[in-house]
Amino acid sequence: MGMDPFTLFERHINPGLAGLLRFTGLDRTESHAEGPYVWDTTGKRYLDFLGLYGTLNLGHRHPKVVAAVEAQLRRMPMSVRVLVSEPTARLAAKLAEITPEGLEMVFFGNSGAEAVEAAIKLARAYTGKPGIVTTQGGFHGKTMGALSLTPKPEYQDPAKPLLPGVKVVPYGDLEALEAALDEDTAAVIVEPIQGEGGIRVPPEGYLRGVRELTQKRGILMIADEVQTGLGRTGKLFGVDWEGVSPDLMTLAKALGGGVMPIGACVGRREVFEVFKQNPLYHSSTFGGNPLAAAAALAAIEVTLEENLPERALEVGGYLMEGLKALQGEFPHLIEDVRGRGLMLGIEFTDADIGALVVAELAERGVITAFGLNNPKVVRLEPPLIIGKEHVDEALAALSESLKATERALEGLLG
Ligand SMILES: *Cc1c(COP(=O)(O)O)cnc(C)c1O
Repeated sequence: MGMDPFTLFERHINPGLAGLLRFTGLDRTESHAEGPYVWDTTGKRYLDFLGLYGTLNLGHRHPKVVAAVEAQLRRMPMSVRVLVSEPTARLAAKLAEITPEGLEMVFFGNSGAEAVEAAIKLARAYTGKPGIVTTQGGFHGKTMGALSLTPKPEYQDPAKPLLPGVKVVPYGDLEALEAALDEDTAAVIVEPIQGEGGIRVPPEGYLRGVRELTQKRGILMIADEVQTGLGRTGKLFGVDWEGVSPDLMTLAKALGGGVMPIGACVGRREVFEVFKQNPLYHSSTFGGNPLAAAAALAAIEVTLEENLPERALEVGGYLMEGLKALQGEFPHLIEDVRGRGLMLGIEFTDADIGALVVAELAERGVITAFGLNNPKVVRLEPPLIIGKEHVDEALAALSESLKATERALEGLLG
C-alpha cells in the first residue's frame, strides 16, 4: 500500500505545517465529504465549521454544482481560447448582473490571489499611477503582487523586495486613509470584513467613507470580496451592507461552488479600457475555464434560489447567540465574539488557548481554524446550507472543548 499520506505530506510537501496539524490532532487523511460533513480514512466524521475559509458556502459536493460540472466535463472541460467558451461568457454576464451597479466587465483567474493581481494591473494601467493603499491585518493572497498588499512580516520578509508604492493604514480608520492618499495613489484595497485579520468588522460608515474619499480624489476602490462574497456575511456581497459600489471587486473562494477553483476581478467598463488597445495585457491559460465557469454558474443559481445570504443571517444569528452565551460562561477564555452572517470569530484571551480549543474541537469532530493574520481568533465559517441542528452540534462540542481547555489550564497552573 505504500507509506501513509500524512507521512508523505510531511516528507514532501510541508513538514512545518504537518507539525501544526499534529498539534491540533488533525494529523489525519481525509477520505470523502458531503454537505457540512467530512470523513477521515479511519471513518471519523467531522462537522466542517471552517468551510475552506469561506469557500464551501454550498457545503461539499452540492449536487447541482456536481451535475453541472459533470455535464461540462463530458462536453468540453477546457477552452481552446481562440474560440469563445459559452459557460465563461454566460458567467461574466451573470456576474455583471448580480454585482453592484456599474460593475460590468470581468477578468477570470483561478484563485483569489490571481483576482487581486488582475486588480492591481488594471488599477495601474487605468490610472497610470503605481500606488496602492492597503490595511493592517488585511489579507489579499500570497503571490508577489497580492503579498505586497498583505502586510505580515512572516509572509513578506523572506520574499522581499516587494512591489513598490504600497502604503499600509489601520483598518477602519478613514482619517489615516485620507492622509495616505497622494497624487501617486492608483487604488485602495479593502476587505468589507477582514477574514484572516481575525473577523474584524469595520465601524459603520467605513466602506461608504472609503468610497467617498476615493471618488473625490479620482482613486479606484478595490473591494476584496474573495472571502465575504456570495452570501457569507448575510448579504450577497459585503459592500451591500453599506450600499457601496467599488470600481473593482475580487471574488474567488465560494465562486466555484466548493467544487472548482475560480477567481474573478469584476470592474467598471472604463477601468477595463486597457484591453481595447491591448487585448492580451493580462491573461490566464486556465482562468475561467468552461469546467470552473459551469461550476460558478450553478453555484450562483443555488445561492440565489436557496436564499443563502438570508439563511446565513438567520443561522448566523442563532450561532452568535450561542457563542455569546458561552462567552458569558467562560469570560476568562473568550474575550470577544463577532462577525456577520456566517462569518464569525471567537477571540480568545490568548493565542495558545485558541489553539487548545481548536484541538479539543477536532477531537470532538468539529473542524475550525485560527485567522492566518491573527491567531487569537478562531474562525467559524460553516457552509451556509447548515441548519440549527448543526449549530447545536457545534455549540455542544464547543462547550465541552472549553471545559476541557479550562481543565488543561488548571492542570498547567497548579
Ligand atoms: C483567501 C483570500 C485571498 C487569496 O485567495 P487564494 O485563492 O488563496 O489565492 C485573497 N483575499 C481574501 C480576502 C481572502 O480571504
